[in-house]
Amino acid sequence: MSIASPTTVVLGTRYARELPEMAVAWQAAEPPEPRLLVLNDRLATELGLGPDWLRTPDGVGLLTGTRLPAEAEPVAQAYAGHQFGGFVPRLGDGRALLLGELADGRRDLHLKGSGRTPFARGGDGLAAVAPMLREYVISEAMHALGIPTTRSLAVVATGRQVQRETPLPGAVLARVAASHLRVGSFQYARATGDTGLLCRLADHAIGRHHPQAAQGQRPYLALFEAVVAAQAALVARWMLTGFVHGVMNTDNMTISGETIDYGPCAFLEAFDPATVYSSIDHAGRYAYGNQPVVAEWNLARLAESLLPLLHDDQEQAVELATQALNGYRPQYAQAWSQGLLTKLGLPADTDDATVSPLVDELLPSLQESRADFTTFFRALAEAARGDIDPVRRLFLDPEAIEAWLTRWRALRPDPEAMDRVSPLYIPRNHLVEEALTAATEGDLDPFSRLVDVVRQPFTQRPGLERYAAPAPPDFGAYRTFCGT
Ligand code: AMP
Ligand code: MG
Repeated sequence: MSIASPTTVVLGTRYARELPEMAVAWQAAEPPEPRLLVLNDRLATELGLGPDWLRTPDGVGLLTGTRLPAEAEPVAQAYAGHQFGGFVPRLGDGRALLLGELADGRRDLHLKGSGRTPFARGGDGLAAVAPMLREYVISEAMHALGIPTTRSLAVVATGRQVQRETPLPGAVLARVAASHLRVGSFQYARATGDTGLLCRLADHAIGRHHPQAAQGQRPYLALFEAVVAAQAALVARWMLTGFVHGVMNTDNMTISGETIDYGPCAFLEAFDPATVYSSIDHAGRYAYGNQPVVAEWNLARLAESLLPLLHDDQEQAVELATQALNGYRPQYAQAWSQGLLTKLGLPADTDDATVSPLVDELLPSLQESRADFTTFFRALAEAARGDIDPVRRLFLDPEAIEAWLTRWRALRPDPEAMDRVSPLYIPRNHLVEEALTAATEGDLDPFSRLVDVVRQPFTQRPGLERYAAPAPPDFGAYRTFCGT
């Protein structure tokens, strides 16, 4: 593989060229004292960007958007979005920039925290070190868990202070995504009333993500169906892993089906569908258990945006969109129940009439016992191997769970298959906080160790016991924040 040097980095301008109405040419702010905090060597190598070169001043210049190839045209992307249900017609990259598409043309290189743009509204355009490292470690964990996600390439400290509740060290995150097209991008195009723009946006999305949609009779309906399928699969993966996104506004939902925007997200510990971590989600709109219906609601907003492209007759367009949207629930249900079956170690063809009663009993008792979701499934694999004690200890009513285990073990669950899909190591909220606090004080070791651990989530390794354990009781209720 050829390794990039300053002269060979290719940053495509396809988005900017094809959708100029949704791109504002903009430059990143110059960081006073850039210092590379973390570089994703593996991802860099995969992208043909030499890690050694990325560590040089020119490389750090690429990672902060301040030394770009001459042909690059960095832009702030325009989008709209429903935030907590209320429509905002103009959001856009307030503190982010699309540097361009990388050499294969299928991945965006993008910055977060690179300075104010015309979309900044009241914001300062900046980001602090800890939240950018948070996005780095959680997106790496998601990737290792096999959940589609944007990737983090690097975090560079800027040497600039960022004023939050207190002054904090600032940073820029360089991230890579299949694209940064969101449901909100379509809402923006639709709200302009320019059907030509909407059409170009849909063609761009089809070309990048769902090229097979172009083959059929109704490419735009096929695009919508492909997004429905991708999101049903994605949200099922979140639910099966206990991931709580925390801010599923339509501007934070991708067309590619990748998880995006790791602001107030967190991983579930005690199983409870009402779990909310975000400090601003007072009504629990984005609670763990609401995520599947919120995704459907967001997809309905995408459908509305696409209506002018679906049929000349808008009544028929609504009919087509509704039919396609009706596919979401069965697809989600199928992905969830298949996933759960695998987590229970049972073959995919296990009779539903056998499994449903087991699941219907299990989830309420997990909730009642406030059992740790991640610990439970690994303990269950131990039970499949013959040691039921780790499971028993998690439940308030050991006799009831023993009876359940007896019925389940009669189905001959496969513990190896279970361990392949249920992680032992997730980015536990207390460990993330511990690592970020140390990093803010200048010690990156706990952060690097945590990244190493979550990159191999399924394989047990000696000495990592504390990474597999839930938060100690004195950690208290966990709260997360947006726009940090
Ligand atoms: P989020 O909920 O984090 O996805 O952000 C929602 C919107 O707020 C996006 O348009 C962001 O670009 C913008 N935003 C968030 N934080 C800042 C900031 N510090 N400065 C400027 N814009 C911001
Ligand atoms: Mg966002």
